[in-house]
This record gives sequence, C-alpha cells and structure tokens, in this order.
Amino acid sequence: MPGIEIDLDKIFHNAKTLVTRLKAHGISVTGITKACCGSPQLAKVLLRAGVTSLGDSRIENIERLREAGINAAITLIRSPMISQVDRVVAAADISLNTEPDVIRALSDAAQKARKRHGIILMVELGDLREGVMPCDVEKTVQSLRKLPNITFLGLGANLACRNGVSPDNRNMAKLSVLADHIDATAGAFAAPMSVVSGGNSSNLNWVFAGGKMGRINNLRLGEAILLGCEPLHRQAITGLHTDAIRLITEVIESKTKPSKPWGTLAQTAFGTPLLPRDEGDIFQSILAIGQQDVDPDGLYPPMGIKILGASSDHLVLNTGDTKAPVGSEISFRPDYAALLRCMTSPYIDKAYIGKAIAPRIIPQPVSAFLG
Ligand SMILES: *Cc1c(COP(=O)(O)O)cnc(C)c1O
Repeated sequence: MPGIEIDLDKIFHNAKTLVTRLKAHGISVTGITKACCGSPQLAKVLLRAGVTSLGDSRIENIERLREAGINAAITLIRSPMISQVDRVVAAADISLNTEPDVIRALSDAAQKARKRHGIILMVELGDLREGVMPCDVEKTVQSLRKLPNITFLGLGANLACRNGVSPDNRNMAKLSVLADHIDATAGAFAAPMSVVSGGNSSNLNWVFAGGKMGRINNLRLGEAILLGCEPLHRQAITGLHTDAIRLITEVIESKTKPSKPWGTLAQTAFGTPLLPRDEGDIFQSILAIGQQDVDPDGLYPPMGIKILGASSDHLVLNTGDTKAPVGSEISFRPDYAALLRCMTSPYIDKAYIGKAIAPRIIPQPVSAFLG
C-alpha cells in the first residue's frame, strides 16, 4: 500500500479485441509496454493476445524484457541516443529513427556485434515531435539503404503526442504516398517496404470511423490496451475494459475540517493553488500518496469523493457524505499520466492479477523481419 493493481485478464481481452478489429483493416499491432516500465508480465499477455511485436521507449525496459527471456521482435520507439547504440543493437531488433548520424552509428554497432538492425524512418506529419520532414525522406532512405548491417523496414509517423494533431485521411495519405514513392524509386529489384506504421492509440478513431488505410499496415498501441480508451478525447472504446488498472491507497487522517483555509495565503510547494470554495465543514481525508507517486489531476475518484489537493506525499480528499476511517482503502482509476508516474514510483507496489499465462503463440522470429 499504496499499490497499483493490473488485471492481466482484462488487458488480454483489450489487446485481443484490438488485434482482431485491426486485422480486419490489414493492420498489425506492436504492443507498447512503456507505461508499465517494460513489464515482462504485460509483454507476455500482449504476445498471447496476438501482437506481432513489442515496443518500448527506453532501452532499460527492453533489456528487462530480454532478461525475462522474451525473444519476440522488440522495437525501440524513441530515437536512440547516439551514446547508447551498442545497447540498442544488443537488445532491440528495430528502432524508430530520424537522424542519419544515429543510423550510421547503429550500423557501426551492428557490424561490431555481427547483427542486423532494422530501421523504421519516422516522418514529420505536423505534430512537431520526432520525424524527418517529408521532403527529406527520399534522400535519407537512399543513404541508409547503403549502410552495412542495417535493414530499412519502412516508414512511421507519430501524432497527437506534442500538439494533439489528430490522425486523419489527409496526413495518413501523405505517409502512404511517400511509401509508394520510396518503393517506386527504390530500383527494380528492391522489395516494397514491409512496414508503414501509422501511429499510436490516437489513430484508432480514424481507423474505426472508416478511414482510408492506404499503405498503413501497423499501429503501435499502449494506452488503448491498458486503459480501454482513445487518447484524443479520452472516450471509452466500445467493448474494452476501462478498469483494468486500479490505484489502491490508504487513509492516514480522517477529520471534520472547515473547507476554507485561514491565515495569510502565499504559494505552496507546487505553485499557487485555487482557493477552495467555502462549503462549511466537510469530511476531509488524507491518503498516503502524493505528487512524487502520481499525477493527482489524472485520478478518477469513486462516486461522491472529490480530490481537493496534493503535496509531495499527501493527497487530500473531500469524502462527501461519508467519513472514510483511518486505515480504509480508497481506489482510483488512473489516466495515462497518473499511470505512468505510479509505475515509475518505487513507493507504489505493483500487483499483477489474473492468469498471466506464457505465450502459446510465439510471434514471427526476428529474422522474418530483418531478412
Ligand atoms: C508512446 C508511443 C506510442 C504508444 O502510444 P499510446 O498512445 O500509448 O498508444 C507509440 N509510438 C511512439 C513513438 C510512442 O512514443
């Protein structure tokens, strides 16, 4: 206590449902484990549900998956640090890239390690996070195709992470047209690129609303699988569990207190708070969890309970009509930001529940991707 409880059966259901629905659109799923810090239990459930490969943003997490014996293809989904290329080549089969210098360093590292490393080149489509500008894609692909021990697998894009730019027919068609152009100019004997990875969970609304897939044949999904919602408007996805993950906390103080502070007011540790509305006396409880462990704005409390504020180690609640006694448990549904911070806090216990069965279907071996 406090603890995060992850129901692997519900996550299996979410992953399998999305894998099945996307398959009907010709799209494979890369299961993203970063929100659970590269948890091997999560990875095994995703593989069992039919994801064709795994992805994580941090090399430490990918190394954790390898140490747990997971031999599926794993993609590093954040551009590799040039200082880490040896670790990247050792643990990841594929990485998403945008910088020619980094790709050259990956090639050198792969030669040293006598391995091949797959590259998906990320294209900027307007969200202004990672990506090569569309006009530079052709020459970048041409140069990386010449590098030893590098396999060019295809193009990718990522939207809705920095500026909330939504995937739509226009930006996805841009990626498809680029893929066609790269293939057409690749020379008579080059096979068409195998992967066009259109984006993340924020692409699901576009897919399910009947978007034109064009060349898009892969999505990288984390949030939709874990939380059962789409990230553009945070609406539940029909047929998915939105309660697979719970944060369980303990009450350490429970008192009737005035709702309005008194004395001379200035800043707190976390800036200038909004002055609470005067509601007279309330049932106030304190939970043993704080900013260090969770994003307090990202917690959905149970009915009738309101979050009033948080400091480093305390979360203050108005428990409404009922007093929550000291020692009692209160659980919350976390949003993505809250989940990420909980999973990263060493003070939060992580409990996986459900039948976490090892994968029955081992996805394609890496050699199938890298040639
Ligand atoms: C985090 C991330 C994803 C997964 O995003 P979700 O919204 O959790 O599905 C996919 N691709 C990249 C590059 C990412 O950084």
